[in-house]
Amino acid sequence: MNFYFEASEVLNRLDAKEGSIKGILATLPENNRARTTALVIETLKYKSVLSDVIQASKLLTEEKKKITSFNLALVLVHDTLLVNGIQAGDGPIKQAILRHKTRLRSELQRIKIKRGVKSNLELAQTSDDRAAKIPRYVRVNTSMWSTEEAMQFYTKRGFQLQGPFASSKGFEIDEHIPDLLAFNPALQFRDDPSYKTGKIILQDKASCFSAFVLSPPCNDPNAVVIDATAAPGNKTSHLSALMGNKGKLYAFERDKRRFSTLKMMLSKAACRNVEAVNADFLTIDPSHPKYSLATHILLDPSCSGSGIVNRLDYLLEDEVEVVDEDRLNKLAAFQLMIIKHAMKFPRVQRIVYSTCSIHASENEHVVSRALQSDEAKSGSFKLAPRNDVLPKWNRRGQAEGMIGTGDADSLVRCSPGEDGTNGFFVSCFVREPNFVLPQAEPSKKRKADTEEAALEKRKKKPKKKVKTE
Ligand code: SAM
Repeated sequence: MNFYFEASEVLNRLDAKEGSIKGILATLPENNRARTTALVIETLKYKSVLSDVIQASKLLTEEKKKITSFNLALVLVHDTLLVNGIQAGDGPIKQAILRHKTRLRSELQRIKIKRGVKSNLELAQTSDDRAAKIPRYVRVNTSMWSTEEAMQFYTKRGFQLQGPFASSKGFEIDEHIPDLLAFNPALQFRDDPSYKTGKIILQDKASCFSAFVLSPPCNDPNAVVIDATAAPGNKTSHLSALMGNKGKLYAFERDKRRFSTLKMMLSKAACRNVEAVNADFLTIDPSHPKYSLATHILLDPSCSGSGIVNRLDYLLEDEVEVVDEDRLNKLAAFQLMIIKHAMKFPRVQRIVYSTCSIHASENEHVVSRALQSDEAKSGSFKLAPRNDVLPKWNRRGQAEGMIGTGDADSLVRCSPGEDGTNGFFVSCFVREPNFVLPQAEPSKKRKADTEEAALEKRKKKPKKKVKTE
């Protein structure tokens, strides 16, 4: 029952305006956070109808000793009516709800008839039009499952290949990203066994572009790839799957708490070729014997997040995003720094820089400045041409934001809602073809071995006779 108390406490704190939904949920203990979050969000979506049901059923007046608050009633009635019942052992609170179950059900039915809806899904509050246009994307984690297996699994459960908007059971295979499926936006997968076991990753389509455009070597035991800003790890697990779980993928994350989330996610997704490193990427020496071998680097740094269509925003009317120029400038300076640092890695061939921002100041402007930097010039970096960066994707970079450098057609933009995705930006830097890779530095150990061997050789060599007259 603690789970319900925790969720109702979150609702109490929201009512008391103690913070944003995201902020309050982030303070929950990690072990139960995902489960409580799902219950809170789902309850909020149906809050209006659940409130009407509770009022009409007189549940609170008749059971006030057991069900001590309206928010506790909300979460309990949510699970009783909209999922498979209360997930807790028998006790006085559960008994109180069960005594009213028939009445609660008939009140719900009455509301459905009144509103002319057939399914419970239609009762959910979806006032953000953009969110309703973004399918629920499911990336099949090919380290554990194949797309064929996934399709069989879902079709057996009644889903049909008819597009995500045809019905609540419709889905399709995405046309741009392999192994990505698109379902109805109202669907939740958090209780789905395929999600719980790591076989699927819930990841927006646009967010899948970064790893796909980076296109790391596949099934190459010698591949070395870096994900510089990794947590929570969606793109890391995507990279790992694209690499066929072979070679080495170093995933850096500077924040300790987010690093533990990253580790958990990587183990759930069976990423065997990833070494997670709790460090600031900017402090990593590009000539480090291990990391200097990286040929592909993914940069998906902190950004304003202005492209994210917050599925939660509309649930609390007063959560309004404020774009702060000063913050944007600071973010852009950091984003530029991280690109320039990646360009210092001697063997890197391909760098993808992406953000979930819609602001040119974090996107085209940063890319232009990076192209003009000394690091780009000495490393012979340019933008990869359009035909190498999702050529069939129509929305490209904003030419006016390029400040005279680089071709905006090389860049990918996604407009929130309009493109069936969140807002997103992707760029890809590659070396000019005439750039000569430096010879691989022998690692310290190898160098020491060779020096030792040379010494041995010298010792064994017969000493030249000193000529005596
Ligand atoms: N790529 C991730 C994914 O798809 O799951 C999301 C990355 S999130 C936008 C940015 C992450 O980079 C944050 O977890 C942040 O703590 C981390 N970060 C920011 N600056 C960093 C740095 N200099 N070195 C390592 N990690 C950094």
